[in-house]
Amino acid sequence: MDDDDTTPGLVDAGALDALASEMDDIERALARLDDGSYGTCEVCGDRLPAETLEDRPGARHCAAHLPVVSG
Ligand SMILES: [Zn+2]
Repeated sequence: MDDDDTTPGLVDAGALDALASEMDDIERALARLDDGSYGTCEVCGDRLPAETLEDRPGARHCAAHLPVVSG
C-alpha cells in the first residue's frame, strides 16, 4: 500500500511546525517583556539589533548565537 502524505484539507505539517515554533517564540518574548529582558540575547545578554526584532519580534539570540536550524 502506498501511503501518500497528500491528505486533502490538511495544512502541511512542516508549515504547522514552523508556525508553532514562531508562536512559542512570541510567547517567550511576551514573558521576557514582563521581566525586562526582551530584546536581548539569551546567551550573551547583548541587545538585539532593531532590524532583527523588526524581522523576528520573537528573536532571542544575537546573530552570533542563533541556534542552527537543521532538517
Ligand atoms: Zn549572543
